[in-house]
Amino acid sequence: MNMKYYVTDECIGCGVCVNTCPEVFKMTDAGVAEAIDEEVPEEYLDAAAQAMDSCPVQAIKEAD
Ligand code: SF4
Repeated sequence: MNMKYYVTDECIGCGVCVNTCPEVFKMTDAGVAEAIDEEVPEEYLDAAAQAMDSCPVQAIKEAD
């Protein structure tokens, strides 16, 4: 399954996604999260989906 994510400007920089799945989500110098610009590796799909579900402001979206 191919899966890719992006973070919207709703992000409040809480860090939950980065802590849940650091292989896919990083904090930027601006203090908000961003997702890697590539397909999520198979072994991190579950953690990345959990990170999306854990975001308190639903700022993580599935990319087309
Ligand atoms: Fe931003 Fe949501 Fe990640 Fe928190 S969990 S840093 S609000 S994208």
